[in-house]
Amino acid sequence: MSRIVGIDLGTTNSLIAYVDEKSGLPRVIPDRDGNVLLPSVVSFSGDGVLVGAAARRQLVRRPAATVYSVKRLMGRGYDDVKEELRYLPFKVLPGEGIVKIAIGSREITPPEVSAIVLRSLKERAEAHFGEPIAKAVVTVPAYFNDGQRQATKDAGRIAGLDVVRILNEPTAASLAYGLQRIHEGVVAVYDLGGGTFDISILRVKEGVFEVLATNGNTHLGGDDFDRAIVLWLLDDIRTRHGADLGSDPEALQELRLAAEAAKIRLSADDRTTLTIPFDAFTYHREITRAELDGLIEQLVDSTLLPCRMALADAGLAPADIDEVVLVGGSTRVPLVRRRVHELFGKAPHSQLNPDEVVALGAAVQARILAGGITNMLLLDVTPLSLGIETLGGIVSVLIPRNTTIPTHAREMFTTSVDGQRVVDMHVVQGERELAKDCRSLARFELSGVDPMPAGMPKIEVVFLIDANGILQVTATELRTGKAAAIEVRPAYGLSEADVERMVEESFTYAEADVEARLLIEARNEADIVITHVERALRQGEALVGDDERQTIGAALEALRRARATEDRELIREATTAMNRATEHLAEVMMDAALKAALASRRADRVLEK
Ligand code: ADP
Ligand code: MG
Repeated sequence: MSRIVGIDLGTTNSLIAYVDEKSGLPRVIPDRDGNVLLPSVVSFSGDGVLVGAAARRQLVRRPAATVYSVKRLMGRGYDDVKEELRYLPFKVLPGEGIVKIAIGSREITPPEVSAIVLRSLKERAEAHFGEPIAKAVVTVPAYFNDGQRQATKDAGRIAGLDVVRILNEPTAASLAYGLQRIHEGVVAVYDLGGGTFDISILRVKEGVFEVLATNGNTHLGGDDFDRAIVLWLLDDIRTRHGADLGSDPEALQELRLAAEAAKIRLSADDRTTLTIPFDAFTYHREITRAELDGLIEQLVDSTLLPCRMALADAGLAPADIDEVVLVGGSTRVPLVRRRVHELFGKAPHSQLNPDEVVALGAAVQARILAGGITNMLLLDVTPLSLGIETLGGIVSVLIPRNTTIPTHAREMFTTSVDGQRVVDMHVVQGERELAKDCRSLARFELSGVDPMPAGMPKIEVVFLIDANGILQVTATELRTGKAAAIEVRPAYGLSEADVERMVEESFTYAEADVEARLLIEARNEADIVITHVERALRQGEALVGDDERQTIGAALEALRRARATEDRELIREATTAMNRATEHLAEVMMDAALKAALASRRADRVLEK
């Protein structure tokens, strides 16, 4: 029996988990340093590729070459993501069907970026088990359409993983909570992560999960909280320091990180202090939880309508919900918990770490697929209606939204023109009446139809959705007995050949040589120290004597020289020496703002690790 792992490929963070043979319990796998969350961030440079926390540290330094929130771009076209782009500091270009990301002169697709994250998780699991890992269950938001699911599968393939199942995140969460043990009941899963919001209503009956309805917003999450805080800070900085940092990408990234850290502290504390040293001034500001609540209240409240819509789709009232499950890091925000509690009229479950719950559930599903757990069935639903365009651009729905999958549907169509030999088929997804308002999934031709008067040919169209939520469409002309069937691949832009090529190219990352990575990290650390020392020398000028200034100057010079070499050890040593040389300076800089500034610096770096 080959091992299958469970992966939560998140917008913000990704995790990998497995089910422990002995205890039968799902467990997340930490990296060598004990970190469970792998930030879904990839940074490119001439020397190589960084992923995770190391890449996240590049957000400020190299915003144009550091890709985050790539999940928002997965399987999407340029028009789908236009709104998004002004928030992303890296360059996104229209591709064929799907967008591409431009890093310098190089172009890379979202699945390739995700594959780098997946490969890092795969390597983490391989180090943990001491054996190769080839199969995974990967989760996606319930709202992902076929193209986005396909893109996720492709990312797996590029990373050398066979994605044996794509699983909706809320369904995974319900598995992690072991809710199959409820004899019978209805569960609402409320998932607010970094970039997506999902609400799912599930029915559990005798060990069987059935998703009754899903709803949500693919553009709402903790990132939006951070953005609200940043806008508020920009205003405040403009008022108090007369500085407009709105168009300074480095400053914006710095503000974003500080805003997120403050937000996280405010989940536990009533007030916190935010200190950001800029070149011209040090920004210092207290923010209370009440102020934060005021900034994000509208965003939080906007999650309630999708909840009500999902309830309506399921034909239920809030009081019909037996259990409420919280998923996603943003559900740690007290205001979010309060609102969810108020809406459903009961305290939500939050015993499991909301960041881990989806990966844990994916591991449970993986174990089911591997044959280790046999007494559990899993049903999922299709999140959007699927149909074909008919005369006048009207959509004929074959599979309505919220249909339990796997499923298939069959419908008869005919021609509208005499002697028609070719019939254009247009497969669409969405809830609108007109095809032009829906998402176009695929177009294909059924050719070789015998010429007949309009209305005579009988064309049977079959939609088949497999357990992964991926759609196949076939069309057959029945009257003449001549059948033409066509398989449709969701038109999201990557051909088989593209995927093959990416698989090959990705091996270059696989060998992404450890030495190069360590060198980059040493250099980054050196850069950070150099920046801080230069700033401290400027701001603490009056506090250092001539001797000390000379010692620090010499250490700084030595570090700059070491930084320019390829010698990682030398850079590390020079960095350590630099830290020693400035110990006293740091001590004497007891000026309140500077003290706070250094403390906050340290806090930021601990958080990023
Ligand atoms: P995703 O599923 O989108 O990858 P996660 O579930 O990992 O996201 O959640 C990430 C989000 O949770 C981020 O916006 C992060 O700032 C937020 N977050 C994490 N911990 C906390 C906390 N203690 N308080 C508030 N927000 C938090
Ligand atoms: Mg998530």
